[in-house]
Amino acid sequence: YDAKRRGLVHEVVDLRDAVQHNESGRLSRDLRTALTENGLDLVYQPLVRCRDGLVCGVEALLRWNHPDRGPISPPSIVAVAEQSGLMNRLGTWVLTQACTDAVRWRIDHPDSPFDLAVNVSARQLMQPDFVAEVTSVLAATGIAPRSLVLEVTETILIEDSERALLVLHHLKALGVRIALDDFGTGYSSLSYLHRLPIDVLKIDQSFVADVEHGSRGAAIVAAVTNLAHALDLVVVAEGVETRRQREVLTSIGADQAQGYYFAHPLPAAGIDGLLQAAAPGALHRPAGSAPGR
Ligand code: C2E
Ligand code: MG
Ligand code: MG
Ligand code: MG
Repeated sequence: YDAKRRGLVHEVVDLRDAVQHNESGRLSRDLRTALTENGLDLVYQPLVRCRDGLVCGVEALLRWNHPDRGPISPPSIVAVAEQSGLMNRLGTWVLTQACTDAVRWRIDHPDSPFDLAVNVSARQLMQPDFVAEVTSVLAATGIAPRSLVLEVTETILIEDSERALLVLHHLKALGVRIALDDFGTGYSSLSYLHRLPIDVLKIDQSFVADVEHGSRGAAIVAAVTNLAHALDLVVVAEGVETRRQREVLTSIGADQAQGYYFAHPLPAAGIDGLLQAAAPGALHRPAGSAPGR
C-alpha cells in the first residue's frame, strides 16, 4: 500500500467490465484516437539463453497509457480492439512497429542478432487476410522472416481448428516461426501438440512459479520440456523471477527463459542500451560460462 501511495507501483487497469459495457463506445473512440495519434507504445522484454544468459530474443508487449484511466492492461486493449473492429489495425501497427525496431537493432548491432516475438490474438490469426498482412509487413520492413516468431495461444484451436492449422502452415511457408504461448493454461491437451506446426513452446509462468516449491512442480516442467524436445521444439520458460527458478529450469534443460529476474519489459531505447552495455548481450551470465554464441 505504501509503495502504491508513493507512486512506486503502477496500477494497471483491467477494463474487462468496462469493455463489456464499453460505455457507449467511448473506449473504442479512445483507442481509435490512440491509433491515429501515436498514443500506443511497445515495450520489449528480453529472452535469454539459459546456459549463458545471452539475449536471444525480445518479446514485443503492447502498452496504452489512457489519458484519463492510466495504463490499460494489454488483454483489455485487445478486447476493446476486437469489440470495435480495430483488431486488424492494431495488429498491423504492432507488427510493423516491432519489425521496424528489430531491423534497426539488427543493423546497429550486427554482432548480437536476436529474434523478435510478437503476440497474435486468436481473432487476428483468423482474419481472412492475416497471412497477406504478415507478407506485406515482412516486405515493407525488410525483416528476415526467420527472425520473426509469432506467438499464439491454445485458444486458436477452440473454434475452427482445421482452419487455424491451415493458417499456421501458410505462415510457416513464409519462413516465420510459431510459438505456442502460455502453454498449460488452456486445454492442456498433449494430444494435439504433434499436429501443430510450431517451433517454440512457452511454458506458462504459473508452472514456472511452482518449480521452486519442491519436486512436483519441477517434475511437471521437466516432463513438458522432455516432450517438447522429443517434438524438436525450443522450450521457453516464462515469468522467471528468481535465481533459484533459473537454476532449476536450466538443470531441467529449458532452452530459454524470460522474466523479471533477467529484465522487465523495456522501451525500445532500453534494448539499445542493453546491447551497448559492458558485457554485451548477456544478462546474469553464470560464473564460469563461456562468453559468445
Ligand atoms: P504473454 O504473451 O504471456 O506475455 C508475458 C506477460 O508476462 C507480459 O505481461 C509480461 O510483462 C509478463 N511478465 C514477464 N515477466 C514476468 C515475471 O517475471 N513475472 C510476472 N508475474 N509477469 C511477467 P503483459 O505485458 O501485461 O501482457 C499480458 C498479455 O497480453 C500477454 O501475455 C499477451 O497475451 C497479451 N499481449 C501483450 N501485448 C500484445 C499484443 O501486442 N498483441 C496481442 N494480441 N496480445 C498482446
Ligand atoms: Mg507472449
Ligand atoms: Mg505467455
Ligand atoms: Mg501470460
